[in-house]
Order: sequence, then C-alpha cells, then structure tokens
Amino acid sequence: SDESDWEIGDFDALDEFGEFERVSEVAIVGRPNVGKSTLVNRILGRREAVVEDIPGVTRDRVSYSASWSGRRFSVVDTGGWEPDAKGLQQAVAAQAERAMNTADVIVVVVDATVGATATDEAVARVLRRSKTPVILVANKVDSERLEAETASLWSLGLGEPYPVSAAHGRGAGDLLDVILAKLPTTPREVSGQLGGPRRVALVGKPNVGKSSLLNKLAGSERSVVDNVAGTTVDPVDELIELGGSTWQFVDTAGLRRKVRTASGHEYYASLRTRAAIDAAEIAILLIDASQPITEQDLRVLSMVIESGRALVIAFNKWDLVDEDRRYQLDKEIDRELARVPWARRVNISAMTGRAVQKLVPALESSLESWDKRVSTGPLNTWLKEVIAANPPPLRGGRQPRVLFATQASVRPPTFVLFSTGFLEAGYRRFLERRLREQFEFDGSPVRINVRVRE
Ligand code: GDP
Ligand code: GDP
Repeated sequence: SDESDWEIGDFDALDEFGEFERVSEVAIVGRPNVGKSTLVNRILGRREAVVEDIPGVTRDRVSYSASWSGRRFSVVDTGGWEPDAKGLQQAVAAQAERAMNTADVIVVVVDATVGATATDEAVARVLRRSKTPVILVANKVDSERLEAETASLWSLGLGEPYPVSAAHGRGAGDLLDVILAKLPTTPREVSGQLGGPRRVALVGKPNVGKSSLLNKLAGSERSVVDNVAGTTVDPVDELIELGGSTWQFVDTAGLRRKVRTASGHEYYASLRTRAAIDAAEIAILLIDASQPITEQDLRVLSMVIESGRALVIAFNKWDLVDEDRRYQLDKEIDRELARVPWARRVNISAMTGRAVQKLVPALESSLESWDKRVSTGPLNTWLKEVIAANPPPLRGGRQPRVLFATQASVRPPTFVLFSTGFLEAGYRRFLERRLREQFEFDGSPVRINVRVRE
C-alpha cells in the first residue's frame, strides 16, 4: 500500500528535545536453534513472535531497541541462513564477520546441552580475531546441575562461557550486566566503506537473465579478486571489479550452479532471494523487458522494498524490445512500478552487453543516497519553507502544525517528523517528494515516521 513507508511511531531513542541518540549495537550470532531468538526476547523482556520451531528457516536480520539499568542499546538478531546444511558453516561464519564490522558487542550463543559443534568452532575461529568484544553464552542451562557442562566450552577460545537459560530467564540479568560493562560509551560510527566492498544482490524471477548478467559482469573485466584485506568473503559470494572498484555480489552460488528441482523450488528460491537481499546493501532487480511485468516480478520488488535496501531496476533483454513493446512497457511501468518512482532504471541486454556499464553509476549514486545524512539545521530550514508555502490540510477543523524534523538514521535514510496532529497520507507523500527533490535521495527508499505530540 502507499502507506508502507509511513508509520506513527513511538521513538524510544529520541530524547526530550527530539534529537536522535545513536545507541550501541549488540549482535547475537550463532548457529540455528541454539536459542538466539529466545535470548533476544529475554533481553527485550517480552514475548515477541520471532521464535520459530522450523530449523533453519530464514529470518531477517532484525534490530530491536532494548534497555537495561537505564542504558539504551539495540539488539540485532542475525538470521538469514540457507536451509541446506552444506553451506551452514560458511553462512554462520559470514554472519559473525558482518557483526564484527558493525556491532559494538557480539554475543555468540552455543547450546550447552549439545556442546561445541563443528559449526560453533567455525564461528569461534572467526570471532577469535575480533577487535569487537565477544561474550560467549552457554544457553539452555535450565538448572544448576547443567552448569558443569559449560566448562567444556572454554575450548572455543572465547573466554569464560556465561551459563544462561534464555527460555526461563536463569542468568539473564548477570549476562546483561556483562554486556553493559563491555558496551562502549559511544556507539561506533558505521561508514559506507567500513565493511569492505559494497554488497549487491542480483534478484528477479527465474529466466530473467540473472546468471547471464553475472557472467557478463564477471567477464567484462578480467580480475576476479579472491581476497580483499580485512574481509572474509562468503564462498557463495563473488567479488567482481567494475568501474574501478570491487563489488561483492552476494549469494551467487545459486546463479552459477543452477538447481532445478520440481517440488518446493519456488519456496526455496524465494527464501534464497530474501537471504540475498538481506545480505546486500543494494539490489539489482532484473525484469524481462520483452514480456509483460508479472506478479512474480512484483513479489521480488516487495521483498526489496520491505528490506529497506537501495534499488536499481534493470530492464533486461532490451535486444528483444521493439517500438510496440516499448510503448506497452511504459504503460506497465506507470501502472506497476508507481511505488518506486525513485528507483534508477537501466535498459540492458545481458546477452549482447548493451548498456551493462550503466549499472555501476546507478549503483553508486543509489548507495550515496542510501548513506546520506542531512543535518538538522538545513532539514528544518527546508521544512519551514515548504510548510509555509503548502500548509497541511485541516483535520477536524484544526490545522496540524509540523514542529520539527530530524534524520534518525541512514541506510536507509529515516526521518522523524513531529506534529501536533495527524498528517494525511497525501500530504505526507507530498513532503516525501519534496524532501527527495531537495536533498537528492534518488535510488534509495526514504522512511518518514510522524510522531504526534498533542
Ligand atoms: P535460534 O534459531 O538460535 O534463534 O533459536 P530459537 O530461539 O528459535 O530456539 C530454538 C529452540 O530452542 C526453541 O525450541 C526454543 O524453545 C529452545 N530454547 C531456546 N532457549 C532455551 C533454553 O534456555 N532452554 C531450553 N530448554 N530450550 C531453549
Ligand atoms: P536466470 O534464471 O535469471 O539466471 O536467467 P538466465 O541467465 O539463465 O537466462 C535465461 C534465458 O534468457 C537464457 O536462455 C538466456 O540466454 C536468455 N537471456 C538472458 N539475458 C538475455 C538478453 O539480454 N537477451 C536475450 N535475448 N536473451 C537473454
């Protein structure tokens, strides 16, 4: 719906002056089923419906705001595994790697009733190099009797294991004290380049040309780098040098080795797409320009929109597009892609190579928007002018006053608007359009939360 990017939110992280307080991030990592989600719920002190009993089902990386002893921080539950066990060690190791790049404290969870598995050891190998503080949690220690078994976890080389029962709350308070003690007083600044090469997901329905494009891109410049200092690249990812910089195409294994199985293929394809988008910073959505836009295209588009990632739309198979088709396509774009007028569009042919070089500038400018931060001064100067010229429509005979705006976060840019009354959807869209024009947010979603102050 057109309301998807808008919500009336209660922003815990905003102080009484409406300024956003950047909080430190605690990442929870570990293999599936050790109890990460249960632990997150315990830390949040509420029962959020994130625990699933289906092993290995992909969950998104979700960030929650939490507090303990008066201190606020965010908790990130890392999900996004592949259902097949073969790539699991790498997938979990890559999650740990990502946490090292972004989090302020890493909590690695192990199932004490099982002991250290090969996958736990793979994670530990990564985390032993970590400069970010790591806390080892021995979960499922539901009774004192089980505590003895945690001793064997010293072998992971991550220091003292903290016995916890996420399900029953045992040891949770002590663990939170330990987490707080290791949280830095100021959260780390995440810059665009800190995590190494920018991560791109190539997505789209089957046969749209994803693997053809990947081959074209990989073949266009001879250097396929296999290691970049400071990063461990998941073996399912691929590093490709384009336009003078290195790009990490995530989860390309499925594009390289095509698995075509009948049953459940669609389901796994969509899990895989979700995981790829989650692991990326920007998605290239391929659409077959020679055919009508389908439901399946729009489903993948929705996944990208929900993820908050930057987006470039590539209309592929342009070599098959004639005048008539072009005319039809324009109409389809107006009708079907009205939700993403901001996305950059490129018409390419993965087969002939037509215009594929235009993807790089589109990716670069979209990521620039995705990373952009507008400071509070210019933002409010702009807001005052726009509102003076176009005041919000009356509601119930009263005119809501928009008081103040601030950019709460980047990636994607998220704004908070304070007003004295509800702002109609049409007016909010108008403000978003103007905001995009003024500060040039092309290629990235922009989120605006309205906070009503009576
Ligand atoms: P995740 O995949 O790591 O997020 O694990 P979940 O939080 O989904 O938990 C996996 C399973 O372990 C679920 O069935 C939980 O109910 C169970 N579980 C989680 N924490 C505990 C615990 O402290 N004790 C026991 N006995 N079971 C737990
Ligand atoms: P994927 O399933 O999305 O990875 O799609 P593929 O890369 O396997 O392509 C599916 C089919 O479309 C193959 O037969 C390709 O040769 C063909 N194809 C891909 N890109 C183009 C293109 O730009 N033009 C034309 N005419 N065919 C293409």
